[in-house]
Amino acid sequence: MAGEPQADCLFCKIVAGEVPATIVRETATTVAFRDINPQAPTHVLVIPKAHYPNAASLAAAEPQVIADILGESREVAAAEQVEDTGYRVVFNTGAGAGQTVFHAHLHVLGGRGLQWPPG
Ligand code: C5P
Repeated sequence: MAGEPQADCLFCKIVAGEVPATIVRETATTVAFRDINPQAPTHVLVIPKAHYPNAASLAAAEPQVIADILGESREVAAAEQVEDTGYRVVFNTGAGAGQTVFHAHLHVLGGRGLQWPPG
């Protein structure tokens, strides 16, 4: 069923506490944890607890949870004190856009200057 945990999904295992992660925030619908390979001084991933392979499928099925994720990104930015200097939120969607983990996740990046366009 859509949204159900997948046995072979790394981020479902983080949600379940079966794979360790440095969790910085948790709500009824989301978990935020530090990226294991940070690309900026602040690099936090905000994920839905429900399993959807990417942001598009999550938005189609549970639009409120996308809103929850964006709200959490704001809380992360405030806690990390990157609101004033600027930060970036990114959903890589599809392998061609650099997505490597197929459980929807929002990158929150900040703490250094960020160039545009991204690579
Ligand atoms: O957007 P993309 O799918 O490439 O992002 C996946 C992210 O998950 C990577 O930035 C990677 O470092 C991170 N990751 C993690 N903890 C793991 C495995 C991957 O933070 N155990």
